[in-house]
Amino acid sequence: MSTQSDQTRAAVRCESCGAILVAEIAPDGSVRPLGTSEDCVCGDGAFTRLEQPAMTAR
Ligand SMILES: [Zn+2]
Repeated sequence: MSTQSDQTRAAVRCESCGAILVAEIAPDGSVRPLGTSEDCVCGDGAFTRLEQPAMTAR
């Protein structure tokens, strides 16, 4: 049995092209965009978190 309570989704913005993506924030703070590869479509993997992960795990 596994849960996904150890990962939080948050909106992030690519620092290179400005694209807004939804990403999973790992417990160690690493950002992994959803719906794309590990990096942005522009090839840059630098993301700025737009909002703090909500503690509303359901
Ligand atoms: Zn980008």
